[in-house]
Amino acid sequence: MSTTEKSADVALLRCESYDKKFLDEAIARAARIAGFPDVQGKTLLLKPNILNASPAAKAVTTNPAFLGAVIRFVKSKGATRILVGDSPGWQPGVLAAKASGIYDAAQRNGATWVDFHEVAAHAVPNGKKLKNIPLTSLLGGIDLVINLPKLKNHQLMTYTGAMKNLFGLLPGTAKSAMHLQYPSVIDFGEMLVDIAMSIPCFSFMDGIVAMQGEGPGSGTPFQLGIVLASGSPAALDWVAVECVGYDPWRIPYLVDGMQRTQGVDTVAEPSTAPLAPGDINHEEFERLPYCSELGKRLDSIPSTLRRILGSAIRLRPIFHTKPCIGCKACVEICPAKALELEKKGRVNRIRIDDHLCITCFCCHEVCPAKAISIGKAPLRIAHRALAR
Ligand code: SF4
Ligand code: SF4
Repeated sequence: MSTTEKSADVALLRCESYDKKFLDEAIARAARIAGFPDVQGKTLLLKPNILNASPAAKAVTTNPAFLGAVIRFVKSKGATRILVGDSPGWQPGVLAAKASGIYDAAQRNGATWVDFHEVAAHAVPNGKKLKNIPLTSLLGGIDLVINLPKLKNHQLMTYTGAMKNLFGLLPGTAKSAMHLQYPSVIDFGEMLVDIAMSIPCFSFMDGIVAMQGEGPGSGTPFQLGIVLASGSPAALDWVAVECVGYDPWRIPYLVDGMQRTQGVDTVAEPSTAPLAPGDINHEEFERLPYCSELGKRLDSIPSTLRRILGSAIRLRPIFHTKPCIGCKACVEICPAKALELEKKGRVNRIRIDDHLCITCFCCHEVCPAKAISIGKAPLRIAHRALAR
């Protein structure tokens, strides 16, 4: 393999399996193409996507073999301290890391697992929504974040990848609280971009098995067979969505990310090598609808009115009694306190107050039983109001 091949904003190359020999080569090549920085003697925080405690085969999390390959790569480049951490929205990080195989992969390859228990104020220069935000205090002691997103659909944002994965530096349920603060897709997206632009990082994306359908937690695995890498999380996301057939211009936070990265309104297509997005076969990939124009207009009206209108015309979470195991994950993560669990014998029923729901879909993200779908449902009467 040539060591002088063409460089590009985003490395995009084929890698069909998590087999060590293919992965090690793919990571090293992607790093060369995308200009991986000098990490000799540096302390790194590797940040996989660990949405919840799911086995690797479900494609909910970054694959542990992918993490292992990146650890071996950064060690070969002289990094002296390699930390691996994430903080799922609902479960303890270490529990989810063990269930997904991430914890073992970190240990086996000589990295150290870290939980995001403590926070410290993190400055967000030029933020549109944030001036500072409490992120994991580990950021204060590291030189670079190595961002390891999984390519997945996302019910709220259409797609989740490099920029959205950095939102996970905000520990635990603080993430769902941000949904309450920024309930519109546009505002929430600007907040995501604020964080992404403020983190020094290099990203390797696991697109070998992506998630199609009802991502980020309840979709199905899709064999896409690609690895991407970039020093720009916005450019990486732009290319990644094109690889699965989305138009990035129709995903507002991706446009915002590129406009801020390039400093212009008219975004130039990032360069890629050795492949172009058009080389990737995505015909069978099950995409989600874009955030609708109507939804965007709703985002610009006052929040009380938006909630009333939104509850009448927006997609909403639908709770299915039969698969529900009564774990209460949805109830606990709901930032709007819109849910209640009603138990009758062995039957678990989730009750929702649509007047409180901000359609953030955090409940859908964390449900371990696929007991929540997203769709159009008749407006559900505020049961608490009736009960009073
Ligand atoms: S019910 Fe679900 S979608 Fe609605 S606010 Fe709560 S977590 Fe978000
Ligand atoms: S709907 Fe899902 S998350 Fe909520 S209690 Fe049932 S199984 Fe748990």
